[in-house]
Amino acid sequence: MRVAMIGTGYVGLVSGACFADFGHEVTCIDKDASKIERLERGEMPIFEPGLDDLVAANVRDGRLTFALDGSEAIRNADAVFIGVGTPSRRGDGHADLSYVYAAAEEIAGLIEGFTVIVTKSTVPVGTGDEIERIVRERRPDAEFAVVSNPEFLREGAAIGDFKRPDRVVIGINNMDDGVGARARTVMTEMYRPLNLNESPLLFVGRRTSELIKYAANAFLAMKITFINEMADLCEAVGADVQQVARGIGLDNRIGSKFLHAGPGYGGSCFPKDTLALVRTATDAGSPVRLVETTVEVNDARKKAMVERVRAAVDGDLAGKTVGVLGLTFKPNTDDMRDSPALDLVPALIAAGARVQAFDPEGMHEAGKLLSGVDFRDGPYDALDGADVAVIVTEWDQFRALDLDRVRTALTAPVLVDLRNVYRPEEMRARGFRYSSIGRG
Ligand code: NAD
Repeated sequence: MRVAMIGTGYVGLVSGACFADFGHEVTCIDKDASKIERLERGEMPIFEPGLDDLVAANVRDGRLTFALDGSEAIRNADAVFIGVGTPSRRGDGHADLSYVYAAAEEIAGLIEGFTVIVTKSTVPVGTGDEIERIVRERRPDAEFAVVSNPEFLREGAAIGDFKRPDRVVIGINNMDDGVGARARTVMTEMYRPLNLNESPLLFVGRRTSELIKYAANAFLAMKITFINEMADLCEAVGADVQQVARGIGLDNRIGSKFLHAGPGYGGSCFPKDTLALVRTATDAGSPVRLVETTVEVNDARKKAMVERVRAAVDGDLAGKTVGVLGLTFKPNTDDMRDSPALDLVPALIAAGARVQAFDPEGMHEAGKLLSGVDFRDGPYDALDGADVAVIVTEWDQFRALDLDRVRTALTAPVLVDLRNVYRPEEMRARGFRYSSIGRG
């Protein structure tokens, strides 16, 4: 299959490289010239484990190319994927679909022969209908189908998720005949390597597919928020949230994943997608109150993390130095979007603290978003002369810190562990004043 992937970000680049690895001929297109130049030089514009090797191998074998001007690739494509960003629209929380519709306009002017137009971006219910309208209006005679194929990969584990998905959701209207049936054949071929054993492909209607993506993210965000509230309750009543999580997670109706208490969810998807779902549901006259509450509780939680650091330094942050370990919203990515650090660090600075920070991959992005931070070269350097250490992101290298070095670096042995990386009794035994989440 010949594939054009519009948008070469976390989703577009990984999906494009994986489709090329499946044997398809893929062009990844982006309007950001610096991204395309870097990719053409063999540099990755993002940090994602394994991506550099995957891209290099497929470029070498001639299946993966990059383009700033995607006209030719779109003209020749069997399938054109839209993988552009759908951030929150300023002010109202609806998904901003301007990039998606701009891509649709571009596609409309170019397609030749039967083409499947696929939204990989996360888009609200009804977006596929609008894309179809845009293309039909410009090209009344064109042969095309608009398909929804939301992406469920996780940053940091993206390649494995793409190649071994729990399911691939494909939304096509009228898929039993006409262009719908042809689109189904193209999409089945796109994912053919996954069909060797039991097929993970789930074919549904287009609106259903669009909603599945939001429902999945909202459910996961709710699960995290639930355990975070249980963590607060554990602190109030003297229980241990990790044991509560294990105790409920062993029930396979509940499952153990996404039951890690922490500083509140962040990232490029959950915050914006929960908010967009709330807006869609309100507009449809069918409010999703659990999701509304999830959004509110999580926002408040991220803002409240500063209080845990304040409490650790006896109630006054003014003039204190805080050593922050981890800035990205989770480990193994350089993505800073909506990271809890973006609430915590400015709040620390506003309270009069100095912040020294280190993140293994996120400092370049963090530097654009956080001002007044003293970025350091390594974890011990970030803690050097600090009054308190705060673990914000659970990178592996923070799980095995040399605690003697940590003690020596700090002016006092105070550690706030927002990810429950260490064990309270061990930390106390080693002389730390240690606080974590939901463990008494
Ligand atoms: P991103 O911001 O990393 O990448 C989007 C890219 O699209 C940018 O490089 C931008 O320059 C490019 N772009 C925008 N308009 C374009 C146009 N008209 N032509 C060519 N390029 C264009 O975004 P992302 O994180 O990859 O997310 C993309 C979509 O996938 C979003 O809808 C997101 O919700 C969804 N998604 C993301 C993840 C994730 O983990 N990041 C997971 C699942 C789904």
